[in-house]
Amino acid sequence: MMQIPFVNIHTHTAAGEGIELVNIDNFDAAPGNSFVSAGLHPWQIGKCDQGQTLKAIERLCLNGKIAAIGEAGIDRAIGTSISLQMSVFESLLDIAKRHQLPMIIHCVKAYSDFLQIMQREPRVKMIFHGFNGNATTANQLLQHGAMLSFGHQLLNNSKLQQTFANIPNDCIFLETDTKEINISGIYNFAAELKHISLNELKRVIFNNLTRIFGNKWVTIG
Ligand SMILES: [Zn+2]
Repeated sequence: MMQIPFVNIHTHTAAGEGIELVNIDNFDAAPGNSFVSAGLHPWQIGKCDQGQTLKAIERLCLNGKIAAIGEAGIDRAIGTSISLQMSVFESLLDIAKRHQLPMIIHCVKAYSDFLQIMQREPRVKMIFHGFNGNATTANQLLQHGAMLSFGHQLLNNSKLQQTFANIPNDCIFLETDTKEINISGIYNFAAELKHISLNELKRVIFNNLTRIFGNKWVTIG
């Protein structure tokens, strides 16, 4: 029987453990045909030339070099004006729409903004990375077709663990983000919360991956 790989849906550095969606900052270095995401993070908005960055992302899409747009999002805990964040996000959303790519969403205190956005754009797949909202928020997002990705917060937040255990398996991903943790460790922990075997969890998340991203990026080792 073939071995089902781990899937790390959001990291900034490749660790070589399973299939990893690596978020890149240096767009010039984007390798062809690899599983990477590129976007304009809310924290970076004031620090770069937005027009140039958006053009560069568009170019990556045209060359078929990225699998997702992200990180992209809205962060209501930072100083950058919401209208500016919103306009950058709308540009990224437009790119995602035109190239039919999923988005890796950074969302801080902005879930209600996203409920509205998703209502309007039901066809763009949004993966909320590092989800740590409550059960009500999780259910509202899921009703709008979101995917939720869980990382290190899952390891020590008992309410989040409960939420994770209760949501349907076909809407979950796991991630390491910037943390020095192994994706296999998060899988083991998550499988216990779900009361399923590690292999079953690997199968579930691998199916989610191929449903959202297709088979193009997947090679089973
Ligand atoms: Zn990140």
